[in-house]
Amino acid sequence: MTVLEGARERRVRTGGVELCVAELGDPRRPTVVLVHGYPDSKEVWSEVAARLAGRFHVVLYDVRGHGRSSAPSPLRGGFTLEKLTDDFLAVADAVSPDRPVHLVGHDWGSVQSWEFVTVKRTEGRIASFTSMSGPSLDHFGHWINKRLRRPTPRRVGQLLGQGAKSWYVYLLHTPVLPELAWRGPLGKRWPGILERVEKVPGGDYPTASLPSDAAHGAWLYRDNVRPRLRRPREDAYAHAPVQLITPLGDAFLSERLYDGLELWAPRLTRRTLPAKHWVPRTRPDRLADWITEFVTATEDGRSETAANGKYADRFGGQLVLVTGAGSGIGRATAFAFAEAGARVVAVDRDAEAAARTAELSRLIGARAAWAEAVDVSDEQAMEKLAARVAAEYGVVDVLVNNAGIGLSGSFFDTTPEDWKKVLDVNLWGVIHGCRLFGRQMAERGQGGHIVNTASAAAFQPSRVLPAYGTSKAAVLMLSECLRAELADRGIGVTAICPGLVNTNITSTAHFAGVDAEEEKRRQQRTARLYGARNYPPEKVADAVLEAVVRNRAVVPVTPEARGAHLMSRFAPRMLRRLARVKPPL
Ligand code: NAD
Repeated sequence: MTVLEGARERRVRTGGVELCVAELGDPRRPTVVLVHGYPDSKEVWSEVAARLAGRFHVVLYDVRGHGRSSAPSPLRGGFTLEKLTDDFLAVADAVSPDRPVHLVGHDWGSVQSWEFVTVKRTEGRIASFTSMSGPSLDHFGHWINKRLRRPTPRRVGQLLGQGAKSWYVYLLHTPVLPELAWRGPLGKRWPGILERVEKVPGGDYPTASLPSDAAHGAWLYRDNVRPRLRRPREDAYAHAPVQLITPLGDAFLSERLYDGLELWAPRLTRRTLPAKHWVPRTRPDRLADWITEFVTATEDGRSETAANGKYADRFGGQLVLVTGAGSGIGRATAFAFAEAGARVVAVDRDAEAAARTAELSRLIGARAAWAEAVDVSDEQAMEKLAARVAAEYGVVDVLVNNAGIGLSGSFFDTTPEDWKKVLDVNLWGVIHGCRLFGRQMAERGQGGHIVNTASAAAFQPSRVLPAYGTSKAAVLMLSECLRAELADRGIGVTAICPGLVNTNITSTAHFAGVDAEEEKRRQQRTARLYGARNYPPEKVADAVLEAVVRNRAVVPVTPEARGAHLMSRFAPRMLRRLARVKPPL
């Protein structure tokens, strides 16, 4: 996609400058105004704008002194928040004279938008505000003062943490040097730095105006930061609903800055995403989706947008595919994502069970849910599934390869057919999932997460689980290798390793080397044992969501799994001895 393809341009005169304004989409639709940050121009939004243009009237403008907007003269004093508010109002009046606009800001675009949405004179002109990586200077001032006034160790830590992240702000306050650096070597190197450090894809961004944007933009800091932090406004309350999107890997802003933001913005929806600072470039799909949902909800007069489940801030609207979702751990996992407002694809070879999971998921909060009847061991069926999901629902954000079957019996009782069956489902099912959906994630280049359900049997040897344990150990190692390979693409991989969990697996597990009657007896016995242990699959589901949020590598779930995991590291001999014990039959 090229920068702002198909955009209509106009010039808006205000306060001695001329602003370059670009418009996309149908002007009769709700207007979304995208405000860029530092050191950027409106083109930072090109990917997001292109995704929004089908639904909204999208407006972008170069902030004064940036891109193709003219700069104030003199520069000093020309970038105050008051003047930036004049500019915004002039743009809003030109592009949407009769209806309030939906405001979206990134970095300094967000800092100034906080001003727009908290001053009296814009009341009625802003329908909603989506903020990313740019706090209100007034809120920030109060945040600092509160910590200075009552400095507990935690608060001092928070101050020092944000202080260290603000190093560049001090530099920008030095005279002339920033201008020289940006117009010289830093300007040349910046695209490479963004690509290497921030993982911003190369191409037609940043634009050629970067050195002068960055040089002029230094005045944003000089004109506003010190005065506002010293004397923050007392009445900086948002008069429109706010959606706060916080990238958790932001090198410049601490998440803690937004603690207690509800005080200033009572109608607040929080979103988090595992990404660095330049989210408009690295996560355009997610941002466009969240902006669309928020704007649509506000237009429809709904104040509640996000689901209220735990982690709703993170998984709301995300596309999550769970295999083996018709029962046990898979079903509980689908429900947990549904509660967080995700869009859920429930896959199971049992069509009816998958349909039931999808139906219940919708009832408990999923933004949408679909059922797919597929055998994960069937390569072609999985290929078709991957193509269908991509075409109909999009690229999966979180993939949970969970489908699995049980198999018990000594090595010599386990037939080649038994081996084939368990490896086909437990290992090949996971391989197909990772290969097909993982590739789509990697090619999209906007991060994601893969969870593979292994088992405590992956690190705990047992004389009665040679085939099952082997399949799960392979899943564990596959997950570790894939995690290493996908780390620099922002894709996390987790192996979940449950111990004994009360599900249907016991009554469907195959017991090798015994006749049908004895197999039935053993299934019932194991089911009773797991029933007595009574560890619910919902707790495994909780561990899955937490593992994704914290990007954990290997997660043993249940106390016995955690114990075995520790022993495999610190007392492997003891674990080997335990492996020899014959289970009572
Ligand atoms: P479960 O039997 O309750 O659910 C498994 C689901 O997977 C079922 O709905 C089944 O129809 C589906 N499935 C089986 N084979 C499939 C295939 N080829 N294609 C598509 N779907 C298929 O079992 P569960 O305990 O929820 O197991 C889920 C996962 O957890 C499995 O990988 C299992 O090995 C693992 N696990 C379970 C336990 C436990 O104690 N229950 C412990 C460790 C690991």
